[in-house]
Amino acid sequence: MLEIIEESCTGCGICVDKCPFNALEMKDEVAVVNENKCTLCGVCVEACPVDAMEIEDKQENTSQVDLSAYDGVWVLAEQRSNKLLDVSLELVSEARKLADELDEEVSAVLLGDDIEHGAQELIAYGADHVYLIEDEALKDYRTNAYTHVTAELIEEYKPEIVLLGATHNGRDLGPRLASRLETGLTADCTELAIDQEKEILLQTRPAFGGNLMATIICPDHRPQMSTVRPGVMVKSEPDYSRTGNITKAEVDLGDEIESEVKNRIFNINSHLHDAEIFTRIKEIVKEASESVNLEEAEIIVAGGRGVGEPERFTVIEELASELGGEVGASRAVVDEGWIAQEHQVGQTGKTVQPKLYIACGISGAIQHRAGMENSDYIIAINTDKDAEIFNVCDYGIVGDLHEIVPLLCKAFKGEGDNQTKEEVVAS
Ligand code: FAD
Repeated sequence: MLEIIEESCTGCGICVDKCPFNALEMKDEVAVVNENKCTLCGVCVEACPVDAMEIEDKQENTSQVDLSAYDGVWVLAEQRSNKLLDVSLELVSEARKLADELDEEVSAVLLGDDIEHGAQELIAYGADHVYLIEDEALKDYRTNAYTHVTAELIEEYKPEIVLLGATHNGRDLGPRLASRLETGLTADCTELAIDQEKEILLQTRPAFGGNLMATIICPDHRPQMSTVRPGVMVKSEPDYSRTGNITKAEVDLGDEIESEVKNRIFNINSHLHDAEIFTRIKEIVKEASESVNLEEAEIIVAGGRGVGEPERFTVIEELASELGGEVGASRAVVDEGWIAQEHQVGQTGKTVQPKLYIACGISGAIQHRAGMENSDYIIAINTDKDAEIFNVCDYGIVGDLHEIVPLLCKAFKGEGDNQTKEEVVAS
C-alpha cells in the first residue's frame, strides 16, 4: 500500500506529474492516492524530493507456502530434432551464476526421445544434474504432455527457481506451468540477479514500451519462474570434463494425460468435443523463413527507415551476402512492409549477439538497442551525427548509407584499393 507521510509532504506536485496511472492528486497541498488506480509501481516514491511517500512492505507470507522446502536452480532445456537449442545452454550458464550465489545446485530438465547426448552437453555448460525423460511421445513439443511431465517433476523435487527460453514453446509452457503450480512468471527477462539479503530472484524486464526497466520479485510463492529470450544471456565456455548426475525418469503418458485434460476441460466447457481438445502431431513442416537465423548469426547487416524505400533494401542484402551474414531490420521497416518480421531486431523482434552488427539508417531507439546492444562490435552508418545509435556503436560513420554501403561492398570484394576482405575487417 502507498502511504503519504502528510507532515513531510510539501505539496510540490512532482509525484502527481510523474504518476503513470493518474493515481495521485493534490488536496489541500497534500498528495492523495487513489487506491483503485495505484499499481504500487514506485515511480512517485523515487520522484518525491522529500521522502514523503512509502510503499508498505508486505512482509507476511500470505501464500502459506513452506519456502524452505524449495532448493536449486532449474532450466527447462529445449531440443528440436534432438539438438539442444542455444538458449538452453545460455540459460544453464546463467543458472550456474545464480546457483553459485545461493550455494545451490543447477539442474536441467530434458524431454525428448534419444537425447542422452544433450544431457552431457548441459553438464558441460554448468548443470550438476539432468532429469532426462525419454519417450516417443515427447519427441516433439506438445503442450499437454510437456506440461504434465514437467509439472510433476517440479512438484516432486521443488526447485526454487525455474528458467525457460522465451521461445514459441517456452512461451506456451511457462504460463501453463505457473498456473498449475500456483506461482508467478516473469516473461522476457533481460537480467537476473539474486537479492543477497532476502535470497530471492530479481527478475528485470522492460516495461511501459521499453521506457522503464522493472525488477519483479516473487516473494511468497515457489518456484520463482522466468523466461528469457534467446541471445540475451551469454553462453559460458563448455567444460566437457565436468561430471554430473543424470536421472532417467519414467513417465506414464497417454491415457493419464488425456483423461486429465478431458476432465479439466469438460468441467469448464462441457460442450467441447474430444477432437477439439487433443493434439497429435501428424507432420512437421518447416517454414522457408527458418533460413533467417539471426540469433546465431556472426555478422548482421541491418537496415532501418533511412534506407528510404523497399527497393533500395538490396544494398543491405548485398553487403550481408558479401560478408556471409544475415539481414536484420528495425521495426519501422517491418511495419512499413519492406521486409518480413523474422528479420526484426529489438524488444519485440529478436535479440542478437553477433560478432559484428552493422546498423544502416537506424536511429537507435531504446527498443531496437535492447535487441542488439550485446553485439561484440557495432558499426553505425547514419546521416544524423546526433543519432542515438552513435552512443552504442564502436565505430560510427556519419553519411549517406547509399554512398557508404556500396563502397564497403566494393572494399570487401577486393575491388577497392587491393585490400583483402580480412584486411578490410581488420582496418
Ligand atoms: P527512424 O527512427 O525513422 O530512423 C531512421 C534513421 O535513418 C534516422 O536516424 C536518420 O537520420 C537515418 N537516415 C535517414 N536517411 C539516411 C541515409 N540516407 N543514410 C544513413 N542514415 C539515414 N523498434 C525496433 O527496431 N525493434 C523492436 O523490436 C521494436 N519494438 C518496439 C516495441 C514497442 C512497444 C514500441 C513502442 C516501439 C518499438 N520499436 C521497435 C520502434 C522504435 O521505437 C523505433 O520507432 C524504431 O526502431 C525506429 O526505426 P528506425 O531507426 O529504422 O527509423
